[in-house]
Amino acid sequence: MTLEELEKLDDEENEIALAIIALLISDSNKIKNSLKNEVGGWFRKYEVDGKYTFRQARMILTKRELREFNAKFGTKFKRLTRQSALRYTIQKSTAKLREKSHERLRSLADRLVEKEQTAFRVTLEDTDLTDNKWGEDNLSPAKRVDNKIDKFTVSLQTEVERVMYTSGNADTAEEEVDRLFLVLASAMGLLLTTERVAMSSFARANIYRMLGYNYYKFVALRDERMCKTCGALDGTVFPISAFMPGVTAPCLHPRCRCSTIGVR
Ligand SMILES: [Zn+2]
Repeated sequence: MTLEELEKLDDEENEIALAIIALLISDSNKIKNSLKNEVGGWFRKYEVDGKYTFRQARMILTKRELREFNAKFGTKFKRLTRQSALRYTIQKSTAKLREKSHERLRSLADRLVEKEQTAFRVTLEDTDLTDNKWGEDNLSPAKRVDNKIDKFTVSLQTEVERVMYTSGNADTAEEEVDRLFLVLASAMGLLLTTERVAMSSFARANIYRMLGYNYYKFVALRDERMCKTCGALDGTVFPISAFMPGVTAPCLHPRCRCSTIGVR
């Protein structure tokens, strides 16, 4: 494979990642809108004098409210405070978001494998790119997605509860949902872009091993945007045994555009 072909392959794989990020953002917007309705509706239904107190928040649902809640979520709670019910509602939405995020990450990985196989004319067997651990935290892309959603769930619950105890206003609660989803969308975009580079890296290392290459060369995209870290590694040849994304292979940092090329 020539450098030009490699650059083209990276460009195409980046395009795939961007398309999948767009799909994930649209998934997340749907989930956000339905959650906004739930949370807004919740506040409108229960806010007393436009403001919740700790006592009101911790008040347990009446029998009728509990029946409605259980019917809606298919749950069998026997006792639930308003605060917990709101928390549960948020958790339900982020669980959906987690599922969607994993689905999109897997489809990104599948499409990368497809692309790499075609480009290198090889068949990669049993390759789950979402499972490769790498980076400072030594986690897999799938695990990093989980962590992101977990953190998001907690901040969403905390912020909505904070609104509950301060302004108690449905509009403010909805705005908070909007704001946090926007922050998440940008974080997920960056995450998938970064994981894409690392996943391509892993696929290529597997291919080089299959093709019997013992070495690979680190290739940075040489333009005005090339950073010092990547520039310093540009052209360095490593034995395949030293392959380690984040250290001796891309992705070295968010928005890294580097690549590797097999050497015999
Ligand atoms: Zn780089």
